[in-house]
Amino acid sequence: MKIALIAHDRQKTLIVKLATAYQPILAQHELFATGTTGQKIIDATGLSVKRFKSGPLGGDQQIGALISENKMDLVIFLRDPLTAQPHEPDVNALIRLSDVYEVPLATNIGTAEVLLRGLDQGLMAFREVVHDQDSNPINL
Ligand code: PGA
Repeated sequence: MKIALIAHDRQKTLIVKLATAYQPILAQHELFATGTTGQKIIDATGLSVKRFKSGPLGGDQQIGALISENKMDLVIFLRDPLTAQPHEPDVNALIRLSDVYEVPLATNIGTAEVLLRGLDQGLMAFREVVHDQDSNPINL
């Protein structure tokens, strides 16, 4: 499965802790991240992560583009709910596209843990079916 990992600055320590705790599960999948988040995860865990641009410089949009092509299966986006972000439109666009393409999305650590445990138990198998379908989610 293809997994995107993104965290706003005040959540970066948390996503590194998450990646460390779930490293054995994450290591079995293809990992993607925005620039700074990805580097911190690589430094802490040694996991292989494809890094895009930093979020404020377009990284969220790059991940959104993959979602729109059904090339992302799970998104963990630890947003900072207490700080205004200069790239708020990009953040909202990524979340909207996850909903359009029905990609499981966690925006906090509690949901992220549930999704990763579900992934480990094979609950994401439905995504294989999506891969086989046309990229249009409502089959127009
Ligand atoms: P970053 O981007 O990982 O490069 O900090 C995340 C974001 O702010 O969207």
